[in-house]
Amino acid sequence: AGIGKHFKYLILGGGVAAGYAAREFARLGVKLGELAIISKEAVAPYERPTLSKAYLFPQGAARLPGFHVCVGSGGERLLPEWYSEKGIELILRTEIAKAELTSRALTSVAGATFTYDNLIIATGSVVTRLTDIGVQGADCNNIFYLREIDDAYKLVSAIQARKNAKSVILGGGYIGLELGAALQINDLDVTMVYPEPWCMPRLFSPEIAAFYEGYYAIKGIKIIKGTTAVGFDSDANGNVTKVKLKDGRVLDADIVVVGVGARPHTTLLKGQVAEEKGGVKTDSFFKTSVPSVYAVGDVATFPLKLYKELRRVEHVDHSRKSAEQAVKAIKASEAGQTVEEYDYLPYFYSRAYDLSWQFYGDNVGDTVLFGDNNPLSAKPKFGSYWIKDGKVVGAFLESGSPEENKAIAKIARLQPPAPDLEQLKNEGLSFASKF
Ligand code: FAD
Repeated sequence: AGIGKHFKYLILGGGVAAGYAAREFARLGVKLGELAIISKEAVAPYERPTLSKAYLFPQGAARLPGFHVCVGSGGERLLPEWYSEKGIELILRTEIAKAELTSRALTSVAGATFTYDNLIIATGSVVTRLTDIGVQGADCNNIFYLREIDDAYKLVSAIQARKNAKSVILGGGYIGLELGAALQINDLDVTMVYPEPWCMPRLFSPEIAAFYEGYYAIKGIKIIKGTTAVGFDSDANGNVTKVKLKDGRVLDADIVVVGVGARPHTTLLKGQVAEEKGGVKTDSFFKTSVPSVYAVGDVATFPLKLYKELRRVEHVDHSRKSAEQAVKAIKASEAGQTVEEYDYLPYFYSRAYDLSWQFYGDNVGDTVLFGDNNPLSAKPKFGSYWIKDGKVVGAFLESGSPEENKAIAKIARLQPPAPDLEQLKNEGLSFASKF
Protein backbone atom coordinates (compact mmCIF):
# COMPACT_ATOMS: atom_id res chain seq x y z
CA ALA A 1 0.00 0.00 0.00
CA GLY A 2 1.09 3.56 -0.66
CA ILE A 3 1.93 5.97 2.13
CA GLY A 4 -1.34 7.39 3.29
CA LYS A 5 -2.53 10.16 5.50
CA HIS A 6 -2.85 9.48 9.19
CA PHE A 7 -5.49 10.91 11.50
CA LYS A 8 -6.10 10.59 15.21
CA TYR A 9 -9.83 10.49 14.53
CA LEU A 10 -11.32 9.37 11.25
CA ILE A 11 -15.03 9.39 10.40
CA LEU A 12 -16.04 7.09 7.56
CA GLY A 13 -19.11 8.61 5.90
CA GLY A 14 -20.05 12.27 5.57
CA GLY A 15 -23.75 12.35 6.42
CA VAL A 16 -25.80 13.54 9.35
CA ALA A 17 -23.95 11.62 12.05
CA ALA A 18 -20.56 12.73 10.70
CA GLY A 19 -21.58 16.39 10.83
CA TYR A 20 -22.88 16.21 14.38
CA ALA A 21 -19.80 14.25 15.44
CA ALA A 22 -17.57 16.98 13.99
CA ARG A 23 -19.42 19.65 15.94
CA GLU A 24 -19.04 17.63 19.15
CA PHE A 25 -15.31 17.14 18.51
CA ALA A 26 -14.95 20.90 18.00
CA ARG A 27 -16.84 21.58 21.24
CA LEU A 28 -14.68 19.22 23.24
CA GLY A 29 -11.49 20.26 21.49
CA VAL A 30 -9.57 18.88 18.54
CA LYS A 31 -6.20 20.07 17.32
CA LEU A 32 -5.59 21.05 13.72
CA GLY A 33 -5.27 18.01 11.50
CA GLU A 34 -6.44 15.49 14.10
CA LEU A 35 -9.87 14.84 12.59
CA ALA A 36 -11.00 13.97 9.07
CA ILE A 37 -14.30 13.02 7.47
CA ILE A 38 -14.22 10.83 4.37
CA SER A 39 -17.32 10.96 2.19
CA LYS A 40 -18.22 9.75 -1.24
CA GLU A 41 -20.58 12.70 -1.53
CA ALA A 42 -19.26 15.95 -3.02
CA VAL A 43 -20.58 18.23 -0.27
CA ALA A 44 -20.12 18.82 3.45
CA PRO A 45 -22.58 17.07 5.81
CA TYR A 46 -26.18 18.22 5.43
CA GLU A 47 -29.59 17.47 6.90
CA ARG A 48 -30.63 14.50 4.79
CA PRO A 49 -34.40 14.70 5.55
CA THR A 50 -34.57 17.97 3.56
CA LEU A 51 -34.02 15.98 0.34
CA SER A 52 -37.53 14.53 0.41
CA LYS A 53 -39.17 17.73 1.64
CA ALA A 54 -38.16 21.36 0.97
CA TYR A 55 -35.54 20.37 -1.63
CA LEU A 56 -38.41 19.34 -3.92
CA PHE A 57 -40.63 22.40 -3.51
CA PRO A 58 -41.66 24.01 -6.82
CA GLN A 59 -41.00 27.45 -5.30
CA GLY A 60 -38.54 28.54 -2.64
CA ALA A 61 -36.83 25.16 -2.65
CA ALA A 62 -34.09 24.49 -0.10
CA ARG A 63 -30.61 24.37 -1.61
CA LEU A 64 -27.13 24.06 -0.17
CA PRO A 65 -25.55 25.76 1.65
CA GLY A 66 -28.94 26.39 3.30
CA PHE A 67 -29.37 23.01 4.95
CA HIS A 68 -25.93 21.93 6.05
CA VAL A 69 -25.92 20.43 9.54
CA CYS A 70 -26.77 21.40 12.25
CA VAL A 71 -29.73 23.58 11.19
CA GLY A 72 -32.18 20.69 11.37
CA SER A 73 -32.01 20.69 15.16
CA GLY A 74 -31.85 24.46 15.49
CA GLY A 75 -28.04 24.53 15.70
CA GLU A 76 -25.23 26.39 13.99
CA ARG A 77 -24.87 25.83 10.23
CA LEU A 78 -21.51 24.24 9.52
CA LEU A 79 -20.31 25.55 6.18
CA PRO A 80 -17.24 24.05 4.49
CA GLU A 81 -15.22 26.99 5.89
CA TRP A 82 -16.15 25.97 9.42
CA TYR A 83 -14.30 22.68 8.96
CA SER A 84 -11.19 24.39 7.61
CA GLU A 85 -11.21 26.93 10.44
CA LYS A 86 -11.31 24.10 12.96
CA GLY A 87 -8.58 22.20 11.14
CA ILE A 88 -10.97 19.37 10.32
CA GLU A 89 -10.24 17.80 6.98
CA LEU A 90 -13.20 17.12 4.68
CA ILE A 91 -12.14 14.47 2.23
CA LEU A 92 -15.01 14.57 -0.25
CA ARG A 93 -15.79 12.62 -3.46
CA THR A 94 -13.81 9.78 -1.94
CA GLU A 95 -15.40 6.36 -1.74
CA ILE A 96 -13.75 3.86 0.52
CA ALA A 97 -13.51 0.47 -1.16
CA LYS A 98 -11.66 -1.45 1.54
CA ALA A 99 -11.47 -1.26 5.32
CA GLU A 100 -8.85 -3.26 7.20
CA LEU A 101 -9.60 -2.88 10.86
CA THR A 102 -6.63 -4.91 12.10
CA SER A 103 -4.15 -2.62 10.35
CA ARG A 104 -6.34 0.47 10.98
CA ALA A 105 -6.35 1.39 7.31
CA LEU A 106 -8.95 2.47 4.76
CA THR A 107 -8.33 2.42 1.03
CA SER A 108 -10.30 4.48 -1.48
CA VAL A 109 -11.53 3.34 -4.88
CA ALA A 110 -8.76 5.49 -6.39
CA GLY A 111 -6.17 3.73 -4.22
CA ALA A 112 -5.47 6.37 -1.56
CA THR A 113 -4.92 5.05 1.96
CA PHE A 114 -5.91 6.58 5.26
CA THR A 115 -4.87 5.31 8.65
CA TYR A 116 -6.28 6.19 12.05
CA ASP A 117 -6.05 5.77 15.79
CA ASN A 118 -9.83 5.94 16.24
CA LEU A 119 -12.47 5.19 13.61
CA ILE A 120 -16.14 6.18 13.63
CA ILE A 121 -18.21 4.27 11.12
CA ALA A 122 -21.07 6.46 9.89
CA THR A 123 -21.86 4.98 6.49
CA GLY A 124 -25.65 5.19 6.86
CA SER A 125 -27.93 3.11 4.65
CA VAL A 126 -27.97 1.95 1.06
CA VAL A 127 -31.25 2.05 -0.83
CA THR A 128 -32.63 -1.15 -2.23
CA ARG A 129 -32.67 -0.94 -6.02
CA LEU A 130 -35.10 -2.86 -8.18
CA THR A 131 -32.14 -3.94 -10.28
CA ASP A 132 -30.73 -5.65 -7.14
CA ILE A 133 -33.84 -7.78 -6.93
CA GLY A 134 -34.00 -8.49 -10.62
CA VAL A 135 -37.13 -6.58 -11.65
CA GLN A 136 -37.38 -6.67 -15.45
CA GLY A 137 -36.51 -3.38 -17.17
CA ALA A 138 -35.52 -1.68 -13.91
CA ASP A 139 -32.37 -0.25 -15.47
CA CYS A 140 -34.24 2.04 -17.89
CA ASN A 141 -34.09 5.84 -17.62
CA ASN A 142 -36.17 7.99 -15.30
CA ILE A 143 -36.43 5.48 -12.49
CA PHE A 144 -35.22 7.39 -9.44
CA TYR A 145 -34.13 6.60 -5.89
CA LEU A 146 -33.54 9.07 -3.11
CA ARG A 147 -30.71 8.84 -0.64
CA GLU A 148 -28.09 11.43 -1.48
CA ILE A 149 -28.10 14.96 -2.84
CA ASP A 150 -27.08 13.74 -6.29
CA ASP A 151 -30.23 11.63 -6.41
CA ALA A 152 -32.39 14.60 -5.40
CA TYR A 153 -30.74 16.79 -8.01
CA LYS A 154 -31.45 14.26 -10.76
CA LEU A 155 -35.06 13.93 -9.67
CA VAL A 156 -35.60 17.70 -9.66
CA SER A 157 -34.10 17.94 -13.15
CA ALA A 158 -36.50 15.28 -14.40
CA ILE A 159 -39.48 17.01 -12.78
CA GLN A 160 -38.53 20.32 -14.38
CA ALA A 161 -37.87 18.76 -17.79
CA ARG A 162 -41.38 17.36 -18.13
CA LYS A 163 -44.30 19.44 -16.99
CA ASN A 164 -47.49 17.49 -16.29
CA ALA A 165 -45.60 14.23 -16.35
CA LYS A 166 -47.19 11.04 -15.13
CA SER A 167 -45.38 9.66 -12.14
CA VAL A 168 -45.55 6.36 -10.32
CA ILE A 169 -44.21 5.98 -6.81
CA LEU A 170 -43.31 2.51 -5.64
CA GLY A 171 -43.42 2.11 -1.88
CA GLY A 172 -45.70 3.42 0.84
CA GLY A 173 -43.20 4.23 3.57
CA TYR A 174 -41.62 7.55 4.53
CA ILE A 175 -40.05 8.18 1.16
CA GLY A 176 -43.15 7.15 -0.77
CA LEU A 177 -45.47 9.36 1.24
CA GLU A 178 -43.21 12.41 1.24
CA LEU A 179 -42.40 12.01 -2.46
CA GLY A 180 -46.06 11.49 -3.36
CA ALA A 181 -46.89 14.87 -1.85
CA ALA A 182 -43.82 16.56 -3.35
CA LEU A 183 -44.56 15.39 -6.89
CA GLN A 184 -48.24 16.29 -6.60
CA ILE A 185 -47.31 19.81 -5.43
CA ASN A 186 -45.17 20.00 -8.58
CA ASP A 187 -48.33 19.31 -10.61
CA LEU A 188 -47.36 15.82 -11.65
CA ASP A 189 -49.99 13.14 -11.99
CA VAL A 190 -49.19 10.77 -9.10
CA THR A 191 -50.00 7.11 -8.56
CA MET A 192 -48.62 5.34 -5.52
CA VAL A 193 -48.23 1.56 -5.45
CA TYR A 194 -47.42 -0.57 -2.42
CA PRO A 195 -47.91 -4.20 -1.44
CA GLU A 196 -49.17 -3.67 2.11
CA PRO A 197 -52.82 -3.17 3.08
CA TRP A 198 -52.07 0.37 4.32
CA CYS A 199 -49.24 2.91 4.18
CA MET A 200 -46.34 3.00 6.68
CA PRO A 201 -47.36 -0.33 8.20
CA ARG A 202 -44.20 -0.45 10.30
CA LEU A 203 -45.52 2.45 12.35
CA PHE A 204 -49.06 3.42 11.42
CA SER A 205 -52.15 1.69 12.72
CA PRO A 206 -54.85 1.21 10.06
CA GLU A 207 -56.75 4.23 11.50
CA ILE A 208 -53.72 6.51 11.24
CA ALA A 209 -53.01 5.30 7.71
CA ALA A 210 -56.63 5.80 6.65
CA PHE A 211 -56.31 9.51 7.38
CA TYR A 212 -53.22 9.99 5.19
CA GLU A 213 -54.56 7.83 2.39
CA GLY A 214 -57.80 9.81 2.46
CA TYR A 215 -55.94 13.11 2.52
CA TYR A 216 -53.77 12.09 -0.43
CA ALA A 217 -56.84 10.94 -2.38
CA ILE A 218 -58.41 14.39 -1.88
CA LYS A 219 -55.24 15.89 -3.37
CA GLY A 220 -55.78 13.71 -6.44
CA ILE A 221 -53.18 11.04 -5.71
CA LYS A 222 -54.21 7.57 -6.80
CA ILE A 223 -53.26 4.74 -4.47
CA ILE A 224 -52.99 1.11 -5.53
CA LYS A 225 -52.44 -1.27 -2.64
CA GLY A 226 -51.68 -4.95 -2.36
CA THR A 227 -49.42 -5.26 -5.38
CA THR A 228 -45.90 -4.51 -6.61
CA ALA A 229 -44.07 -3.62 -9.81
CA VAL A 230 -42.82 -6.63 -11.75
CA GLY A 231 -41.46 -4.89 -14.85
CA PHE A 232 -41.05 -1.74 -16.90
CA ASP A 233 -41.39 -0.85 -20.56
CA SER A 234 -39.25 1.82 -22.16
CA ASP A 235 -39.16 3.70 -25.47
CA ALA A 236 -36.41 3.73 -28.12
CA ASN A 237 -34.40 6.20 -26.00
CA GLY A 238 -34.50 3.90 -23.03
CA ASN A 239 -36.93 6.14 -21.11
CA VAL A 240 -39.53 4.43 -18.98
CA THR A 241 -43.05 4.43 -20.41
CA LYS A 242 -44.96 1.83 -18.43
CA VAL A 243 -44.96 0.13 -15.05
CA LYS A 244 -46.27 -3.40 -15.05
CA LEU A 245 -47.87 -4.57 -11.83
CA LYS A 246 -48.10 -8.07 -10.44
CA ASP A 247 -51.90 -7.90 -10.43
CA GLY A 248 -51.82 -7.41 -14.21
CA ARG A 249 -52.47 -3.69 -14.32
CA VAL A 250 -50.19 -1.50 -16.45
CA LEU A 251 -49.60 2.16 -15.56
CA ASP A 252 -48.32 4.88 -17.88
CA ALA A 253 -45.23 6.56 -16.43
CA ASP A 254 -42.72 9.23 -17.40
CA ILE A 255 -41.10 9.28 -13.98
CA VAL A 256 -40.86 6.46 -11.44
CA VAL A 257 -39.63 6.98 -7.90
CA VAL A 258 -38.72 3.93 -5.88
CA GLY A 259 -38.79 3.94 -2.09
CA VAL A 260 -38.89 0.29 -1.19
CA GLY A 261 -36.40 0.27 1.64
CA ALA A 262 -32.80 0.57 2.62
CA ARG A 263 -30.30 -1.53 4.51
CA PRO A 264 -27.42 -0.52 6.75
CA HIS A 265 -24.20 0.05 4.84
CA THR A 266 -21.94 -2.51 6.51
CA THR A 267 -20.47 -4.40 3.55
CA LEU A 268 -16.95 -2.99 4.06
CA LEU A 269 -16.81 -4.48 7.54
CA LYS A 270 -18.18 -7.95 6.91
CA GLY A 271 -16.41 -10.54 9.00
CA GLN A 272 -14.30 -7.95 10.82
CA VAL A 273 -16.71 -6.74 13.47
CA ALA A 274 -19.58 -8.26 15.47
CA GLU A 275 -22.97 -7.66 13.89
CA GLU A 276 -26.49 -7.90 15.26
CA LYS A 277 -29.91 -7.29 13.69
CA GLY A 278 -28.28 -6.36 10.41
CA GLY A 279 -26.12 -3.62 11.90
CA VAL A 280 -22.78 -3.20 13.64
CA LYS A 281 -23.17 -4.23 17.27
CA THR A 282 -22.17 -1.58 19.78
CA ASP A 283 -22.34 -0.88 23.48
CA SER A 284 -23.99 2.17 25.06
CA PHE A 285 -20.99 4.27 24.02
CA PHE A 286 -21.18 3.09 20.40
CA LYS A 287 -17.97 1.09 20.72
CA THR A 288 -17.91 -1.94 18.44
CA SER A 289 -16.28 -5.31 19.12
CA VAL A 290 -13.03 -3.93 17.67
CA PRO A 291 -10.96 -1.62 19.92
CA SER A 292 -10.99 2.06 18.91
CA VAL A 293 -13.71 1.47 16.34
CA TYR A 294 -17.12 3.08 16.87
CA ALA A 295 -20.33 2.88 14.82
CA VAL A 296 -23.12 5.48 14.90
CA GLY A 297 -26.33 6.43 13.11
CA ASP A 298 -28.20 4.04 10.84
CA VAL A 299 -25.52 1.33 10.97
CA ALA A 300 -25.37 0.89 14.75
CA THR A 301 -27.26 -1.81 16.65
CA PHE A 302 -27.09 -0.46 20.19
CA PRO A 303 -28.62 -1.18 23.62
CA LEU A 304 -31.89 0.69 23.83
CA LYS A 305 -31.89 1.01 27.58
CA LEU A 306 -35.56 1.92 27.96
CA TYR A 307 -36.64 -1.35 26.31
CA LYS A 308 -33.70 -3.47 27.52
CA GLU A 309 -33.07 -4.60 23.99
CA LEU A 310 -30.56 -4.19 21.16
CA ARG A 311 -32.03 -2.10 18.36
CA ARG A 312 -31.15 -0.30 15.21
CA VAL A 313 -32.82 3.05 14.56
CA GLU A 314 -32.81 4.59 11.09
CA HIS A 315 -33.87 8.11 11.96
CA VAL A 316 -32.21 11.45 12.00
CA ASP A 317 -32.62 12.28 15.69
CA HIS A 318 -30.77 9.12 16.71
CA SER A 319 -28.04 9.68 14.12
CA ARG A 320 -27.32 13.08 15.69
CA LYS A 321 -27.45 11.89 19.29
CA SER A 322 -25.49 8.68 18.77
CA ALA A 323 -22.73 10.68 17.05
CA GLU A 324 -22.51 13.06 19.98
CA GLN A 325 -22.48 10.19 22.46
CA ALA A 326 -19.63 8.42 20.65
CA VAL A 327 -17.48 11.54 20.56
CA LYS A 328 -18.14 12.27 24.23
CA ALA A 329 -17.17 8.69 25.06
CA ILE A 330 -13.95 8.85 23.02
CA LYS A 331 -12.92 12.12 24.64
CA ALA A 332 -13.83 10.93 28.13
CA SER A 333 -11.89 7.70 27.78
CA GLU A 334 -8.78 9.66 26.77
CA ALA A 335 -9.11 11.56 30.03
CA GLY A 336 -9.62 8.33 31.97
CA GLN A 337 -13.26 9.25 32.54
CA THR A 338 -16.61 7.78 31.54
CA VAL A 339 -19.88 9.19 30.29
CA GLU A 340 -23.42 8.10 31.07
CA GLU A 341 -24.95 5.24 29.11
CA TYR A 342 -26.98 6.22 26.06
CA ASP A 343 -30.61 6.34 27.12
CA TYR A 344 -32.54 6.99 23.95
CA LEU A 345 -36.23 7.64 23.52
CA PRO A 346 -37.10 6.76 19.91
CA TYR A 347 -38.41 9.79 18.02
CA PHE A 348 -39.56 9.89 14.39
CA TYR A 349 -41.36 12.55 12.41
CA SER A 350 -42.50 13.38 8.94
CA ARG A 351 -43.97 16.34 7.09
CA ALA A 352 -45.93 16.69 3.87
CA TYR A 353 -48.37 19.36 2.71
CA ASP A 354 -49.54 21.24 5.83
CA LEU A 355 -49.32 18.01 7.77
CA SER A 356 -46.72 17.17 10.34
CA TRP A 357 -46.58 14.26 12.73
CA GLN A 358 -44.34 13.14 15.53
CA PHE A 359 -44.00 9.77 17.20
CA TYR A 360 -42.24 8.91 20.44
CA GLY A 361 -41.58 5.60 22.13
CA ASP A 362 -42.44 2.10 21.06
CA ASN A 363 -45.23 1.10 18.66
CA VAL A 364 -46.13 -2.24 20.23
CA GLY A 365 -49.31 -3.57 21.79
CA ASP A 366 -52.85 -2.24 21.44
CA THR A 367 -53.62 1.11 19.85
CA VAL A 368 -56.19 3.75 20.68
CA LEU A 369 -56.97 6.55 18.26
CA PHE A 370 -58.20 9.89 19.55
CA GLY A 371 -59.22 13.19 18.00
CA ASP A 372 -60.43 14.06 14.52
CA ASN A 373 -58.87 11.95 11.79
CA ASN A 374 -61.36 12.89 9.10
CA PRO A 375 -59.30 14.00 6.10
CA LEU A 376 -62.19 16.24 5.00
CA SER A 377 -62.10 18.31 8.21
CA ALA A 378 -60.85 21.87 7.95
CA LYS A 379 -58.24 21.27 10.64
CA PRO A 380 -57.83 17.58 11.32
CA LYS A 381 -55.92 16.80 14.48
CA PHE A 382 -55.56 13.37 15.99
CA GLY A 383 -53.24 10.99 17.70
CA SER A 384 -52.74 7.48 18.90
CA TYR A 385 -51.42 5.73 21.95
CA TRP A 386 -49.81 2.30 22.09
CA ILE A 387 -50.53 0.28 25.23
CA LYS A 388 -48.54 -2.71 26.35
CA ASP A 389 -48.72 -4.61 29.66
CA GLY A 390 -51.11 -1.98 31.01
CA LYS A 391 -48.77 0.91 30.27
CA VAL A 392 -48.77 3.61 27.62
CA VAL A 393 -45.51 2.98 25.74
CA GLY A 394 -45.85 5.04 22.55
CA ALA A 395 -47.64 8.12 21.28
CA PHE A 396 -48.29 9.62 17.86
CA LEU A 397 -49.65 13.07 17.15
CA GLU A 398 -50.61 14.80 13.90
CA SER A 399 -50.58 18.61 13.89
CA GLY A 400 -49.50 18.97 17.51
CA SER A 401 -48.17 22.20 18.96
CA PRO A 402 -44.62 22.16 20.38
CA GLU A 403 -46.04 21.82 23.93
CA GLU A 404 -48.31 18.97 22.90
CA ASN A 405 -45.44 17.17 21.21
CA LYS A 406 -43.45 17.56 24.41
CA ALA A 407 -46.33 16.07 26.35
CA ILE A 408 -46.48 12.93 24.19
CA ALA A 409 -42.68 12.59 24.40
CA LYS A 410 -42.95 12.76 28.15
CA ILE A 411 -45.50 9.98 28.52
CA ALA A 412 -43.57 7.76 26.09
CA ARG A 413 -40.63 8.11 28.45
CA LEU A 414 -42.63 7.79 31.69
CA GLN A 415 -44.84 4.90 30.52
CA PRO A 416 -47.72 5.67 32.89
CA PRO A 417 -50.36 3.02 33.63
CA ALA A 418 -53.08 3.17 30.99
CA PRO A 419 -56.70 3.70 31.98
CA ASP A 420 -59.15 1.48 30.11
CA LEU A 421 -59.04 2.00 26.39
CA GLU A 422 -62.42 3.75 26.16
CA GLN A 423 -61.38 6.30 28.76
CA LEU A 424 -58.01 6.82 27.09
CA LYS A 425 -59.78 7.47 23.80
CA ASN A 426 -62.09 10.01 25.42
CA GLU A 427 -59.33 11.79 27.28
CA GLY A 428 -57.18 11.91 24.15
CA LEU A 429 -54.43 14.49 24.30
CA SER A 430 -55.49 15.69 27.74
CA PHE A 431 -54.28 12.33 29.10
CA ALA A 432 -50.73 13.15 27.98
CA SER A 433 -50.97 16.76 29.11
CA LYS A 434 -51.55 15.68 32.73
CA PHE A 435 -47.98 14.49 33.19
P1 FAD B 1 -26.21 9.19 6.28
O1 FAD B 1 -26.73 10.52 6.63
O2 FAD B 1 -26.91 8.42 5.23
O3 FAD B 1 -24.69 9.37 5.85
C1 FAD B 1 -23.90 8.31 5.36
C2 FAD B 1 -22.75 8.89 4.59
O4 FAD B 1 -21.75 7.90 4.37
C3 FAD B 1 -23.12 9.43 3.21
O5 FAD B 1 -22.51 10.67 3.02
C4 FAD B 1 -22.51 8.39 2.27
O6 FAD B 1 -22.16 8.90 1.02
C5 FAD B 1 -21.27 8.01 3.04
N1 FAD B 1 -20.68 6.71 2.68
C6 FAD B 1 -21.28 5.50 2.72
N2 FAD B 1 -20.40 4.55 2.33
C7 FAD B 1 -19.24 5.18 2.03
C8 FAD B 1 -17.97 4.73 1.55
N3 FAD B 1 -17.72 3.45 1.32
N4 FAD B 1 -17.01 5.66 1.35
C9 FAD B 1 -17.25 6.97 1.59
N5 FAD B 1 -18.43 7.44 2.05
C10 FAD B 1 -19.42 6.56 2.25
N6 FAD B 1 -35.34 10.52 9.39
C11 FAD B 1 -36.26 11.11 10.20
O7 FAD B 1 -36.23 10.87 11.41
N7 FAD B 1 -37.19 11.97 9.71
C12 FAD B 1 -37.28 12.26 8.39
O8 FAD B 1 -38.14 13.04 7.97
C13 FAD B 1 -36.34 11.64 7.50
N8 FAD B 1 -36.37 11.92 6.18
C14 FAD B 1 -35.48 11.30 5.34
C15 FAD B 1 -35.54 11.58 3.98
C16 FAD B 1 -34.66 10.97 3.08
C17 FAD B 1 -34.73 11.30 1.64
C18 FAD B 1 -33.71 10.03 3.58
C19 FAD B 1 -32.78 9.34 2.63
C20 FAD B 1 -33.65 9.75 4.93
C21 FAD B 1 -34.53 10.39 5.83
N9 FAD B 1 -34.48 10.14 7.20
C22 FAD B 1 -35.39 10.76 8.05
C23 FAD B 1 -33.47 9.23 7.77
C24 FAD B 1 -32.22 9.99 8.18
O9 FAD B 1 -31.85 10.89 7.18
C25 FAD B 1 -31.08 9.01 8.45
O10 FAD B 1 -31.47 8.20 9.55
C26 FAD B 1 -29.76 9.71 8.76
O11 FAD B 1 -29.32 10.46 7.67
C27 FAD B 1 -28.69 8.69 9.16
O12 FAD B 1 -27.47 9.36 9.36
P2 FAD B 1 -26.09 8.61 9.09
O13 FAD B 1 -25.03 9.63 9.31
O14 FAD B 1 -26.07 7.33 9.82
O15 FAD B 1 -26.13 8.24 7.55
